[in-house]
Amino acid sequence: MKINSNYHNINESYLFSTVARKIREDKEKHPDKEIIRLSIGDVTLPLPEIVVEALKKASQEMGNKETFKGYGDEQGYAFLRDKIAEYYKGKGVTVKPSEIFISDGAKSDLGNVLDIFSVDNTVLMSDIVYPVYLDTNVMAGRKIKFYEGNSENNFLPLPDDKVDADIIYICSPCNPTGAVYDKAGLKAWVDYANKKDAIILFDSAYEAFITDKNLPTSIFEIEGAKTCAIEICSLSKTAGFTGTRLGYTIVPDELVREGTKLNKLWLRRQTTKFNGVSYIIQKGAEAVFTEEGYKQTRENIKYYLGNAKVMMDVLDELGIWYIGGKNSPYIWLKCPEDMGSWEFFDYLLSYGVAGTPGVGFGEHGEGYLRLTAFGDRENVIKAMAKFKQAVIDLKK
Ligand SMILES: *Cc1c(COP(=O)(O)O)cnc(C)c1O
Repeated sequence: MKINSNYHNINESYLFSTVARKIREDKEKHPDKEIIRLSIGDVTLPLPEIVVEALKKASQEMGNKETFKGYGDEQGYAFLRDKIAEYYKGKGVTVKPSEIFISDGAKSDLGNVLDIFSVDNTVLMSDIVYPVYLDTNVMAGRKIKFYEGNSENNFLPLPDDKVDADIIYICSPCNPTGAVYDKAGLKAWVDYANKKDAIILFDSAYEAFITDKNLPTSIFEIEGAKTCAIEICSLSKTAGFTGTRLGYTIVPDELVREGTKLNKLWLRRQTTKFNGVSYIIQKGAEAVFTEEGYKQTRENIKYYLGNAKVMMDVLDELGIWYIGGKNSPYIWLKCPEDMGSWEFFDYLLSYGVAGTPGVGFGEHGEGYLRLTAFGDRENVIKAMAKFKQAVIDLKK
């Protein structure tokens, strides 16, 4: 008997546990001090009313002999896949309901989709990264290469023809940097992938935060993407579903490798290993894609982006370099006075504000700090006043 020894190669991430420990220790030392967390990576507003109503109604249906539902299709109910196809039509993108697969979230799909690819593939991802991309490939024992985000390329690196890769991860708007690719940037990646016969796994979990009409909210807005990309999205950040759970993955029919449609492989994978999402939750998700659902979810997003605006105004005033915030709930800022990520984190904490050290997301994140716009407006205003004082004192 042998275990999968690749698990020994996964790096333990101490980022969030260390942040939590430092906040706890500071509280013990100064019990009266208020600490505001601008480090929350989870939504804070409750589910929109229209979703709650749909969930209630669906629960009632499940308790009724006439409307009760047993096993559903693993790839999701048609009513929801039709709605998502319509939503994409609004983006100017045509996807068939049969190309849409409902799941319990983007994290699951990002990991599970690797089932349909050989472990012999080489994977390419940013070196400042959502840990799921990295850890799932380490578990499988794939060869991993990195492309480098930095302040020169605004953390939006472009492909390098000299580098070969088979599977490419792109997250836009990006967690943790908040950077968003424009159409030309994504086109460069699509052309590169088509040329290398590679597959892009496009994580669009934050697409609903894009307010700039010129920025793409789906990779399928880019010509040529259907022959090289899989898009993975989620209602976690769009509609506050982090505790409710629903995501979806789009595998176009045009995506063919070695004479095989990847859509067929993914369908086979999901119908074999996945039970589908409960009827009740899918009805809740359906409500998100109605006109009223769109309005209510976008109101919540507007609130978060309003928090981001409060942060950006203070950063602008202080002349601090940053990206994100405008089309993303994340702000990625350069620590003032060339401080290191943890050094600035500790310093800010002494003023009662907690961010997330950039270096925790990868070594090229050193010298940066991530702020998140999830949370209460009042707290954000208070925290940014403290932030401002901290930076002013630093420059004295
Ligand atoms: C939050 C987040 C997701 C969504 O994950 P779920 O599993 O659907 O909750 C996906 N990708 C990134 C980068 C995220 O930050």
